Amino acid sequence: ETVDHKYVYDFAEGNKDLKDLLGGKGANLAEMTNLGLPVPPGFIITTEACKAYLATGEEPAGLAGQIATHLEALEREMGRRLGDPDDPLLVSVRSGAKFSMPGMMETVLNVGLNDRSVVGLSAQAGGNDRFAWDSYRRLIQMFGKTVCEVPGEEFEHALDEAKRAKGTTNDLDLDADDLRGLVDAYKKIFVKHTGREFPQEPREQLDLAIRAVFESWNAERAVVYRRQERIPADLGTAVNVVSMVFGNLGPDSGTGVAFTRDPGSGAQGIYGDYLANAQGEDVVAGIRNTVPLQELEQLDKKSYDELLAFMARLEGHYKDLCDIEFTIERGKLWMLQTRVGKRTAAAAFVIAGQLVDEGLIDLDEALHRVNGAQLAQLMFPRFRLDHEFQPVAKGIGASPGAASGKVVFTSARAVELAAEGESVILVRRETNPDDLNGMIAAQGILTSRGGKTSHAAVVARGMGKTCVSGADEIDVNVPAKRFTVAGQTVNEGDIVSIDGTTGKVYLGEVPVMPSEVVQYFEGSLEPEHVDNPLVRAVHRIMTHADGKRRLAVRTNADTGADAARARRFGAQGIGLCRTEHMFLGDRRELVERLILARTDDERDSSLAALLPLQRDDFVEIFREMDGLPVTVRLIDPPLHEFLPPLEQLAVNVAVAQERGEDVAKEEALLAAVRRMHEENPMLGLRGVRLGLVIPGLFAMQVRAIAEAAVAVTRAGAVAKPEIMVPLVGAVQELETVRAEAEKIIAEVVGDSGVEVLIGTMIEVPRAALTAGQIAEAAQFFSFGTNDLTQMAWGFSRDDVEGAFFWRYLELGIFGISPFESIDRDGVGRLVRIAAEEGRAARPELKLGVCGEHGGDPDSVHFFHEVGLDYVSCSPFRVPVARLEAGRAAV
Ligand code: ADP
Ligand code: MG
Ligand code: MG
Repeated sequence: ETVDHKYVYDFAEGNKDLKDLLGGKGANLAEMTNLGLPVPPGFIITTEACKAYLATGEEPAGLAGQIATHLEALEREMGRRLGDPDDPLLVSVRSGAKFSMPGMMETVLNVGLNDRSVVGLSAQAGGNDRFAWDSYRRLIQMFGKTVCEVPGEEFEHALDEAKRAKGTTNDLDLDADDLRGLVDAYKKIFVKHTGREFPQEPREQLDLAIRAVFESWNAERAVVYRRQERIPADLGTAVNVVSMVFGNLGPDSGTGVAFTRDPGSGAQGIYGDYLANAQGEDVVAGIRNTVPLQELEQLDKKSYDELLAFMARLEGHYKDLCDIEFTIERGKLWMLQTRVGKRTAAAAFVIAGQLVDEGLIDLDEALHRVNGAQLAQLMFPRFRLDHEFQPVAKGIGASPGAASGKVVFTSARAVELAAEGESVILVRRETNPDDLNGMIAAQGILTSRGGKTSHAAVVARGMGKTCVSGADEIDVNVPAKRFTVAGQTVNEGDIVSIDGTTGKVYLGEVPVMPSEVVQYFEGSLEPEHVDNPLVRAVHRIMTHADGKRRLAVRTNADTGADAARARRFGAQGIGLCRTEHMFLGDRRELVERLILARTDDERDSSLAALLPLQRDDFVEIFREMDGLPVTVRLIDPPLHEFLPPLEQLAVNVAVAQERGEDVAKEEALLAAVRRMHEENPMLGLRGVRLGLVIPGLFAMQVRAIAEAAVAVTRAGAVAKPEIMVPLVGAVQELETVRAEAEKIIAEVVGDSGVEVLIGTMIEVPRAALTAGQIAEAAQFFSFGTNDLTQMAWGFSRDDVEGAFFWRYLELGIFGISPFESIDRDGVGRLVRIAAEEGRAARPELKLGVCGEHGGDPDSVHFFHEVGLDYVSCSPFRVPVARLEAGRAAV
């Protein structure tokens, strides 16, 4: 005898930690039930059942029976039978995955209604025919659209038609007869598209709805959303079957959404939207304009007070911002959903700080509540305060930021223009899940309807996109591709600016300035004196991160100015100073002479001319980095990059010859360029190979570094140069360069007290695999994870991202580009091997990383785990790396 696998859980059997199995919505409904809050009874079908269904296309064995058992128990508890003609139990069938995917999957309300039970429902509600027929028409609409793929517009047209016939724009003006007529119209639409009558059998409705929720896991928009949010594709969704409560029973009923703090700013207070005489989806869909939750106090004080008490209770219990969906049925409050709410980056910091103050969490936990991506967002510019633009409209600041761009009205157009490199603002009356691709492509989103909890607002906050919602002065006409506001017409392609903090909308491009968080990092805002909760919270959390982290954070900087800024941002040295830009501009000519030199004398004289220029560059950087280490990389790119392109040169020579001019010099240059032409320059004569082939080149650079260090030290500062040799694959390469360098250093440094380290980049796989040998000759390793990634995978970063990465992402070969976030299994393994074997050979070996990955949050955690000493990243990523290094350590 086999025991059935358990696929169905009663609310009382679950809890908030079972999100993998019960989904977020189900686990939290269970938690609220067990806390004793008023949740309508129901049960949860597990994600395992969904996965089994999606794998085979059939409900797993035992599921139907378990649903029947739980349904019977629910019917007993409620004293009603599903779809009973006289006194029907109705249920909602709701999706709910482990991670919240707002509006991405399906929900069907009022399951159990049919031609007979609609009459019973009316009687149950004291002869409220209007309510019963309104509920029935909603069922056919939702069921038709989500279960049977009937185009939603058809229902909307029929509804508009009914309102027009009645001479109204408000659905509340439709009476019972109108709605009965609408049900007939809906049924015809249903038959037309499905070839069958609307199913009258309640259990069949239930089973089909459950199946539709399972299948909605793979709906295109859900797939797009998961990719965007990096949610794994194989989790599946749970299904919640919940007995219905009704917010559409009249003016003493209604439905709403609430947050325990402002999800935009983090401020404490009461935030939410309420809509009287309405059913669930109406609030989120922005169908009618909602009222602020505070107004519920006037409408129904008892429910309002009770709601606030429940909210405080939930916050204390979850120790975090919660968002809540509730419905009031004739003065009785029901809790329909809660979860730890999505919030903006600013709110994440502010709330983490508040929760510490309130004693709910400690600072280590506060560090877990924020992340580097959020901090990066807070460093984006905002609109200047002194600009002279006048707002043309004001909506709700639904998701902060400053965005300017060309107006577009459809998701498709947004995607198109963004692909051409344009900034676009997607303007809609309201967004729906089908707009997702356009929202991803847009710089910002502007809607004329909906509140803080509308689809646009919730999704934009999740993505960190600027959004102004509910700007109702704006009249959007999508088919005509224009909107009108304040007597002006704005057409597709016109530029607008939106401020997601204040909700203001401007015509034209408003100038921007650094955010207050950047001003704080720059040192122009003192946290203690600032009356700005965000700056105070950032300061406090960053200070804690700095105290906890084991990784040092350096910066990549090639100029004194970059070095100075990075230092203000907290950089503890330079991890990568590239020297190639020092060969550009008016120095190009010297470089050309060097490359073209036919004799030792010619070569030496151009090197001699370059020496003081390079030295001055280093002096500036060492001075800015007084007391901190500076890793200078010897010249790396192939030499032809410093010469004009072959085709252009060939044309110039031909033209000049035609004119009879003297072209000896150009011809020599052309010959040299031809000679140096390589099929795969990135795998050719570059890095250490250059140093070994062109006598005197590395020697000149080493001399410039050493002389600069001595000069800076003599002037009273402390220079700590670290010379880094690029592209080493064999210890002999490094030994050769090092022997020459040490001689020069000894000669230059003398008794000045300057100490110069010599090390290498680990960026060729062979170097990683022979790290034990290489460490014998290196005082430090710096992992060049960009090249290491290219060479480990065998693809060129400059060529492949657009060519086929999209397909690799689609197939799941990558979850994310390996250039963005380190590939732990492959490239990461090389790093690990090199770190272990390098340290085994030389325990005091310094280890760092200087690729783009040094500023990527996930990669920083990896480098922490591997035990590197520091990461290095661009100046603007330095605070992000500090924060993530702290998070990795707690
Ligand atoms: P989503 O995940 O998209 O928010 P939900 O499953 O929460 O979808 O359902 C959408 C709306 O339907 C919610 O606003 C909720 O209030 C309403 N709703 C769901 N179940 C019930 C129910 N049993 N009674 C009344 N309203 C419900
Ligand atoms: Mg919901
Ligand atoms: Mg490299």
